[in-house]
Amino acid sequence: MNDGASNHETESDAAHPCRACESPVRESAPTFPFCSERCRMVDLSNWFGGKYRISREIKDSDLETVD
Ligand SMILES: [Zn+2]
Repeated sequence: MNDGASNHETESDAAHPCRACESPVRESAPTFPFCSERCRMVDLSNWFGGKYRISREIKDSDLETVD
């Protein structure tokens, strides 16, 4: 049976590894290429970690060190 009511877009929805934690993240994700906003922040902090220090934008509560 086909209702034709399904609204699915999987054509270009390939999954890629998150740049921060390597979890699969879809291209359609708003946070792509990261799986989440948190990972994006983590990656940013890594980028700037060497030269700059971010004391704003990122909150400790957002960055849980899972190691
Ligand atoms: Zn991630």
